[in-house]
Amino acid sequence: MKTDIRSMTLEELTAALKALGEPAFRGKQVFTWLHRGVRSFDEMSDISKPLREKLAEAYRADGLSVARKQMSQADGTVKYLWELHDGNCIETVLMQYRHGNTVCISSQVGCRMGCAFCASTLGGKVRDLTPGEMLEQVLFTQLDSGLSVSNIVLMGIGEPMDNLDNVLRFLELVNHPLGLNIGMRHISLSTCGVLPGIRRLADMELQLTLSVSLHAPDGETRSRIMPVDRAYGVDELFEACHDYFKKTGRRISFEYAMIDGVNDAGWQADLIVKKLRGMPGHVNLIPLNDVAESPLKPSRRVRQFQRRLEEQGVTATVRRSLGGDIDASCGQLRRKAMEQEREEREK
Ligand code: SAH
Repeated sequence: MKTDIRSMTLEELTAALKALGEPAFRGKQVFTWLHRGVRSFDEMSDISKPLREKLAEAYRADGLSVARKQMSQADGTVKYLWELHDGNCIETVLMQYRHGNTVCISSQVGCRMGCAFCASTLGGKVRDLTPGEMLEQVLFTQLDSGLSVSNIVLMGIGEPMDNLDNVLRFLELVNHPLGLNIGMRHISLSTCGVLPGIRRLADMELQLTLSVSLHAPDGETRSRIMPVDRAYGVDELFEACHDYFKKTGRRISFEYAMIDGVNDAGWQADLIVKKLRGMPGHVNLIPLNDVAESPLKPSRRVRQFQRRLEEQGVTATVRRSLGGDIDASCGQLRRKAMEQEREEREK
């Protein structure tokens, strides 16, 4: 098995090249090429042929390939289904906003969190993504689309806190001045509420934006739709969020998918207000995306719920839904591709 070279930090690359008898600057050269998106060592024109051959024997630099690509006619959102070197598939979504282009990347192949409304988790988790595979989603989306990416959200398939070591290394890579150089303030990480991860991030005091998928402020409802709540209860979650704010000074964004008759009652808005007191939270109301496999239906009370929060001083926005015509949400494209493959096989 060859080593995934795009997962290596500059320091590691430099050390590895030194061990091959190369001068210190060689690490920088190779790192720069890799982060520009070359797919083979032969493209590294200022590296000698013998060294390129040596590298190709030990390392893999090929990256992701496009398995499928869909573009929304309505808003220019592009969705990529990438094939990884082992045949697994993941999704990346590119969204064009006024404030810049944002990519939504995956952190795992599948997910083991089991949220009742989410398509990404239906088949469980297959494996973690490497730091290089996360980087490549940003890199090759940029190269393929010709659009430069200014913001990254870790809101695709997978639970970033369930793969935190790799995610942290990815952040270091994507942040590097010789690489894509995307600043922490332009990166959001979303979690369903894995507390050890939130606490670890709080202690690191990174300047990224933390998003918490709340979806219900009361344990009874939340544990019904999000199994993670049975391991880390919602009151503990709010406590960790308050602590996160105290340590980092960063406002947390709470994701809230509005589900008919489940989490859209007035008292639930009131409870959110109460639990956020003392912390400048922001609630992002998302009209539930209909997932065919799920009995949960979109709420009709989104505006009312928003008003109720705002009247009590909690800022709440209703997320503009992009890419609705191309399954650009929550693991739906990967799901569809897997189903089609199965149908093909069964024919
Ligand atoms: N595992 C992380 C990262 C995924 S982010 C997390 O849970 O935060 C994807 C976001 O989309 C999460 O907020 C998730 O709860 C939400 N989501 C999943 N399925 C959805 C659906 N059918 N409709 C609306 N939002 C959904």
